[in-house]
Amino acid sequence: MVYSKNYLQEAIDYAYTNGMVKYNSGRALIHAPFILSPYGVSQGLLQKMIALTPRFNQMLIKVANDREFLKHHLEPVAKTDPFIETLFSLQSKENTQPLQLLINRNDYLLSLPQDKLSLEAKQVEINTISASFPFLATRVHQMHQDLYYKEKIGHQLLLNNPLKELVDNIAEAIRHYHHPDTCLLMVVQPHDKNVFDQRGIEYALLKSHGIPTIRLTLEEVADYGKLKEGHLKIKPYLAAVTYFRAAYNPEDLESSLAFKGRQMIESSSSIKVPDIGMQLAGSKKIQQVLTNPDQLSRYVPAKVLQDVLSTFVGQYQLEDPVKTADGEVTAMEHALKVPERYVLKPQREGGGNNVYGQQIPEFLKALAPSQYPAYILMEYIPAMEHKATLVVEEHSTETQCVSEIGRYGLCLAERGLVLRNEDAGYLVRTKAAHLHEGGVCAGYACLNSLFLETNP
Ligand code: ADP
Ligand code: MG
Repeated sequence: MVYSKNYLQEAIDYAYTNGMVKYNSGRALIHAPFILSPYGVSQGLLQKMIALTPRFNQMLIKVANDREFLKHHLEPVAKTDPFIETLFSLQSKENTQPLQLLINRNDYLLSLPQDKLSLEAKQVEINTISASFPFLATRVHQMHQDLYYKEKIGHQLLLNNPLKELVDNIAEAIRHYHHPDTCLLMVVQPHDKNVFDQRGIEYALLKSHGIPTIRLTLEEVADYGKLKEGHLKIKPYLAAVTYFRAAYNPEDLESSLAFKGRQMIESSSSIKVPDIGMQLAGSKKIQQVLTNPDQLSRYVPAKVLQDVLSTFVGQYQLEDPVKTADGEVTAMEHALKVPERYVLKPQREGGGNNVYGQQIPEFLKALAPSQYPAYILMEYIPAMEHKATLVVEEHSTETQCVSEIGRYGLCLAERGLVLRNEDAGYLVRTKAAHLHEGGVCAGYACLNSLFLETNP
């Protein structure tokens, strides 16, 4: 792509002008890393991903409400993983809130199977808690659109406004809560670098729906919150919806005050995004279990079962049998032999926890068998590579990259019955091809947007 001389500087200026910013480790403001030109995707792949989003949403609602299923598969994990045990201990005995709002993001890599001619979307993971970047993804799309219009570049950019959809769904959930003086409670980490993505949601909710947001850490919830007749009161409001942008890792729940804050939320009538069941439904372990068609068919209609399955790569418990050219071995034995074909995942979210490739054998050998249930092995997805220009801390580098496409899914349900269910747009994160991890704020990946390929 040929751009005018000032294109890079203009893109950086656009980022600052429009709130595409984050804090760096020194707490100074810097633009969020982004890609100069959008990533091309075919109509066929796009339609497939979009059509699957409501199916995954519905599946997650069902799984989250199936306490027996979650308990059966996660109890062995909880025995060796204190964080999962903590989450179970937080699940309230009775559910006082029949409404559920699911905000998730289903992440895919596009890969070209050896024996096939066209790309396939393969699922990396579903995030049922703190699915981030709805604001920044909306902004980066607008940036590409505005700058391409000015540059007279004719690509067909794919409209993207997950921010609006998300805010409209939160507002609808709050209306269903049927109470005056309600707010959105946004639970945050104390020094989150990604605060502007969260503030973007807060101000959009205020502007479009007149709904205030109270931003608190879990400890502050315990300090300032009161449970009154089952409602969570944060003066002067009732927390109709609690949206978690924290509480997905053990450190967030470490202090007894933070634990108390999480407990107060879970036991209240606030609509939790997500509640503990939904958080557990998004665990790596449950995603591994659901790659088994017999398990998946309990939560997905038969007519779409194959479509959903086609997005999965193999995922295994460490001692599961896998078929190889040399006969059947355990997944763990196979990963010791060909580690480059696997990713080892613990039950953690938020980046930096997985073990990749050549580091797997050493890690596996150090594990006690009692710890095996806490991990899953997932086949490595060989994503299609492409060239892209990354803009990080105001410097641009052109390099070989891979792109991960996340589809935002939103679903409002009452007693498990779906009231509203939609695909709400996308996030694209593009990173250098040699990197394994994909976090934007961790400094691995850059925000990107999509254009429609005319010759798929
Ligand atoms: P987290 O909960 O930490 O976000 P993910 O499962 O999303 O964990 O993994 C983090 C990153 O690692 C992903 O964004 C992706 O770039 C890479 N990754 C994870 N699983 C695979 C896989 N099976 N194949 C290739 N890359 C993967
Ligand atoms: Mg992820």
